[in-house]
Amino acid sequence: MTQNYKVNELFQTIQGEGVYTGVPAIFVRLQGCDVGCAWCDTKHTWDIDPSKQSELMLLTDKSTESDRWADVSAKEIVDEIKRLGYTANLIVITGGEPCMFDLRELTQVLHEFGFQIQLETSGTYPVLVDDQTWVTLSPKINMRGKKEVLKTALVRANEIKHPVGTEKDIEQLDALLQQLKSVNDKTICLQPISQKPKATALCMKTCIERNWRLSIQMHKYLDID
Ligand code: SF4
Repeated sequence: MTQNYKVNELFQTIQGEGVYTGVPAIFVRLQGCDVGCAWCDTKHTWDIDPSKQSELMLLTDKSTESDRWADVSAKEIVDEIKRLGYTANLIVITGGEPCMFDLRELTQVLHEFGFQIQLETSGTYPVLVDDQTWVTLSPKINMRGKKEVLKTALVRANEIKHPVGTEKDIEQLDALLQQLKSVNDKTICLQPISQKPKATALCMKTCIERNWRLSIQMHKYLDID
């Protein structure tokens, strides 16, 4: 049976973070998250309210954020991408917390249509995706939802992207990475919180010392979504 996914938003832009910074991308934002980050900037994705169900074509206008969602199959997502005439080859599956759902069918179908896929996750749910999918894990540690970052998610991650404000954030990341035998197969990106100069300086210093990568949230400098 075909699986459906609850889509909050579908739009085309430039990826502003992590390894794919600067790459044209189609964002598929799924509805639903119980991780509970206090500073979350997509709180409208948290609840799946049955009264907010909508049509996908009504959710592709990126002018307003809303808690509406559409229940659609992978094929319907591809059809909507074609209808909109989007040209990006990279699809970013984000949320919400997309790994609350089994994403194997969605990622398999999108790969079959020739798309590259990047999944963005907090690492607090098992990562069920196609083997070709690029997994970017942004660990959410000690959040209100009291969820642990799973070792299996860390192992599957291709990229670990960590928001950093102070040394404590780097210590927390180091503690997580200690669970892994090696991080040589992963790209580690440090992301200064809120473009603060002290956080940026700390990220730059740490990236240079460890040969990690700086992720500066380019979209915030460009003031685009
Ligand atoms: Fe928000 Fe993402 Fe945290 Fe969920 S995991 S609360 S969507 S920042």
